[in-house]
Amino acid sequence: MSERILLIEDEEKLARMVEMELKYEGYEVEKALNGRSGLDLALSGGFDLVLLDIMLPQLSGMEVLRRLRRESQIPVIMLTARDSVVDKVSGLDSGADDYVTKPFAIEELLARIRAALRSKGGGPAVPLSVGPLVMDVDRHQVTVRGQGVELTKKEFDLLHHLLENKGRVLSREALLDAVWGFDFVGETNSVDVYIRFLRSKLDDAFGLKLIHTVRGVGYVIKEE
Ligand code: CA
Repeated sequence: MSERILLIEDEEKLARMVEMELKYEGYEVEKALNGRSGLDLALSGGFDLVLLDIMLPQLSGMEVLRRLRRESQIPVIMLTARDSVVDKVSGLDSGADDYVTKPFAIEELLARIRAALRSKGGGPAVPLSVGPLVMDVDRHQVTVRGQGVELTKKEFDLLHHLLENKGRVLSREALLDAVWGFDFVGETNSVDVYIRFLRSKLDDAFGLKLIHTVRGVGYVIKEE
């Protein structure tokens, strides 16, 4: 049975786009265009996950979340405006499971949805690892020999994608597509720049050789 997602979002164009993408991925989707009807629907049950915009008419996303949390532990991913740190923090404090910053690449949203549904589905996800490096995706943590490594979001996402494809050589284009999203406008050398960041924080800092360049092709993560 396919999982059911409730999308509470008042920007109709964005809501339609997200709905289409989610349906394409095999989810059932229901939309609410304001906070009030969104909360009613969410409380009526039958959903596996809620995508919740913060700026909503009638009832704000934060208020929807607070009222929903009195009765339900359904996973909630907040859709926040860029750089609205306050929203993110109070959203997570109020019991949101995760947030995605607008504008978002659909691939990123899909990955967050999968992670939220996975952690809900009982049992923690199997951590990704290579050599002494371990990534806990649900906790958004990376450790090397048990020692925490601070990564930016892009660095984390890039490492995540490499780890999911451990031992497989990935082209710059494939990495750009997966990590930056299909609507990315910029230079493909962003990949090289972020690979350099990762190498300095992981390989260099810990005396490892995990991230390998395959000349003329791309990158691969594997044990030495
Ligand atoms: Ca809105």
